[in-house]
Amino acid sequence: MQTLRKKSLEQLAKAPKIVAKGSLSSNEFSSHVLNSKQLQKFISQKAFDQIKQSIEKGTQISSSVADQIASAMKSWAVSKGASHYTHWFQPLTGTTAEKHESFFGLDLEGNQIEKFDGDQLVQQIPNASSFPSGGIRNTFEARGYTAWDPTSPAFLFENTLCIPTIFVSYTGESLDYKTPLLKSLQKLDDAATEICHFFDKNTSKVNATLGWEQEYFLIDRSLALTRPDLLLTGRTLIGHAPSKGQELNDHYFGSIPSRVSVFLKELEYECSFLGIPIKTRHNEVAPSQYEVAPVFENANLAVDHNTLLMEIMNKIASKHNFTVLFHEKPFDKINGSGKHTNWSLSTNNGVNLLSPGKTPMSNLQFLSFFINTIAAILKHEELIRASTVSASNDLRIGQNDAPSAMLSVYIGQHLLQVLDDLENVTKGKLSPEEKTDLKLNVIGKIPEILLDNTDRNRTSPIAFTGNKFEFRTVGSKANCAKLTTVLNAIVTEQLIEFKIAVDGLIDSKKMKKDDAIFNILREMITSVKKVLSEGNNGIVEGKSIRKSKALSEYKTSPEALPAYIKKSSVALFESLDILTSNELSARYQVDLEAYVSTLQIESRTLGDMARNHIIPTAIRYQNMLIENIRGLKEIYGDKFKSYAGEQLLILEQISNHIAEINEGVTKMINARKEAKNIEDYLEKAIQYAETVKPFLTSIRYHCDKLELTVDDTLWPLAKYRELLFVR
Ligand code: ADP
Ligand code: MG
Repeated sequence: MQTLRKKSLEQLAKAPKIVAKGSLSSNEFSSHVLNSKQLQKFISQKAFDQIKQSIEKGTQISSSVADQIASAMKSWAVSKGASHYTHWFQPLTGTTAEKHESFFGLDLEGNQIEKFDGDQLVQQIPNASSFPSGGIRNTFEARGYTAWDPTSPAFLFENTLCIPTIFVSYTGESLDYKTPLLKSLQKLDDAATEICHFFDKNTSKVNATLGWEQEYFLIDRSLALTRPDLLLTGRTLIGHAPSKGQELNDHYFGSIPSRVSVFLKELEYECSFLGIPIKTRHNEVAPSQYEVAPVFENANLAVDHNTLLMEIMNKIASKHNFTVLFHEKPFDKINGSGKHTNWSLSTNNGVNLLSPGKTPMSNLQFLSFFINTIAAILKHEELIRASTVSASNDLRIGQNDAPSAMLSVYIGQHLLQVLDDLENVTKGKLSPEEKTDLKLNVIGKIPEILLDNTDRNRTSPIAFTGNKFEFRTVGSKANCAKLTTVLNAIVTEQLIEFKIAVDGLIDSKKMKKDDAIFNILREMITSVKKVLSEGNNGIVEGKSIRKSKALSEYKTSPEALPAYIKKSSVALFESLDILTSNELSARYQVDLEAYVSTLQIESRTLGDMARNHIIPTAIRYQNMLIENIRGLKEIYGDKFKSYAGEQLLILEQISNHIAEINEGVTKMINARKEAKNIEDYLEKAIQYAETVKPFLTSIRYHCDKLELTVDDTLWPLAKYRELLFVR
C-alpha cells in the first residue's frame, strides 16, 4: 500500500503551475480602504471635522455623526460589491475575530430594509463568550462588546466591510489587544509632546511608529497534510534533521523559487488593495523560510495590518497549495521565525524623535528620547520579556538562532562612545568651556558618527538601528500590539519622570533648560549603561555573553510571565490608566492557560503519532526483516546467523526504540494526569514545563532514530528534506 506521503510527492511532481491573480496599477493602492480622503467625499465637513478630532484627540463622536458615517461606509462598501459588514477585532487568542452581518434585513411584510446605522457601527454584542478572558467575564453575563475604533480605517475584504473595533467586557474591562494599545498611544502622545515642548513649541502630537518584519515558512500543503503535528500544532514534533540543512547559507537572499514568487505576487496584489505597504520580501536563513516587511506606519494601523496580512497569507497560500507556518520553531535544529518589531516616535511635523538631528539642540532632543527609552527598557526588562514569551516562542528565544533570554540593548560602538563622553563631562555644574566646546562637540558630532554606524549587530535581542529600536524577541505568530503597548507605557512613565526631574532643576537650581536636560541625562547614563551590550562596559564580548547583574534571564514562559503582575508593572499600568490590576491578572492567566494548552495539545499529538503512526510502521518494517531472516534460515540452515547478523541487530534496535517510545508515552500521559489536577495556573504551567515537556524531546529522539532505520517507502510522515526542499 502506498503511503499518503508518497502519493503527495508523486502528485506534486505532476502539479500544474498556478498563475498569480492580477497585475497591479498604482491607482489601485488602498482602493479597498475607506481612508479619511475617501470618507470626506461622503460626509459633511462638520461630520468630517468631528471624526478628525476624535482620531487625533480621542474625543466622542455624536450619534448623528455616527449615523452619517455608517451610511457613508455602507454606500462605499455596497458600491464596491459588499453585501455584509463585520466588526473586526483582536481577542486575546492572538488572531482576529469577526461575525458577519448582512447590510439588509426584511421587514414584517418581507420587504428588504437597510439594517446598518450609527448604532450598528459604534457598538455590537458579538456574543463571543468563548474567547479567553482570564476570568473577567462570568459566563452568565458572558457578553463582550465590540466598539468602533475610528483611528483605524474600515476596509473591504472578501466582499465584507470590516470595521476595526476594540473588544471589552460588559463591565468595561478590555478583552483584546487593541484597547490597551490605543490607551497607551494616547498617554505616550501626551508625555512625549510635553518633552518636545522643551525643544519645539510647534509639536502638537507624537505618534509611536511601528514597522514589523514577518518571518514565516512556506511548505507544500499536500506534504504538510501528511503530518498531524503540523496540522494541529503548527510545528513538527517528530522529524530527523535532513543531511543538508542551512549550512551552505545558499537560501538566504538567494533567488526566490518560482512557485513562491507566484504566491508572493498575489499576496502583494491583495495587500495593495488593502493599503498594506509591503516593501521588502526575501528568503530567510533557513530553507523554505521567507520574510515580508512593510514601510512603517502609525503603531495602531501597523498592528492591524500585520494581523490582516497573516490572515491574507493563510488564504492565498491554500489557494496556491501551500501552508504558511507562522510558528516560531516549526523545525528542530533549523532557524526559527520571529517578528522583528521596529519602534520609534514621530511628531506631527514628521520629525523622527529617535533620529539624530543636524543641530546640537535637535541632538539634545534625540538624546533625551534615546536615553529615556533605554532607561525604560532597563527598568521594565522583565515586563518586556513577559509580553513576548509563549510556549512556542520559548523554543526559539535563547537558542543559537535567535536572541538570548537576557534583554540587553545593542547601540553600537559609536553611540557608546558618545554616552561615555557625555558621562565624563566634569561632574556637577558644567564648566564654562564645557558648556560651549565639549557639550557642543559631543552632541554636535552625533550625525556624522551615525552615518558611520554600519557595525549593525543582527542577533542581540534589542538593537538601536540608527533611527529606531528593533525588538527581535517577538515571536512570528504573536500579535505585536502586546509588546508595543508595553513599550508605549514604559516610555511614557519614564518621560513623565524625566520631565519632573528637569523641571525640578530649572525651578530649584534656576538652571537654564538645556543645562538641566543635559545634567539629568548625564546622571542617567551611569545606570542605563548596565543594559547596554558591547563596548568597554561590554556584556557581550565576541559571542560569549557575560552575565549582567542588572538583567534577569528567564528561559521559559512560567518563569517570565509573573512579571505581568509584579508591583512595578501594576503601578505602571494603573497610574497611566492603561490596564487595571484586574485586567493584568486576567492577561497573565490567559497567557498561562495558553501555555498549558499548547503543551497539552503537543503532548497528546505526539502520543497519538508515536502510537498510531510510528510504532505500527516500525513493526511493519520489523515484519519485513523477520520475513527476510526466516528466508535466510531456510536457505542457510544453522549457518544463517552469519548472513542475518545485521538484520537481527536492526530488529533488536527497533524493538528497543519501540519499547522506549511506548513506555515514554505512558509516562507522559501520567505526568499530564498529575498536572491536570493542579488548580493554580502558574503551578500547573511549571509542572507542565518540568514534567511533561521533557517527554517531547525524549520520545522524539527514538522516533527520529526509527525514521533513519525504517524503509523509506513505509514512512508515513513527510520528511524534513521533503518539507524544506521540495518546491
Ligand atoms: P533589517 O532586516 O535590516 O532590519 P528591513 O528593511 O527588513 O531591515 O526592516 C526594517 C523595518 O524597520 C521595516 O519594517 C521598516 O518599516 C521599519 N522602520 C524603518 N523606520 C522606522 C521607524 N522610524 N519607525 C518604525 N519602524 C521603522
Ligand atoms: Mg530587522
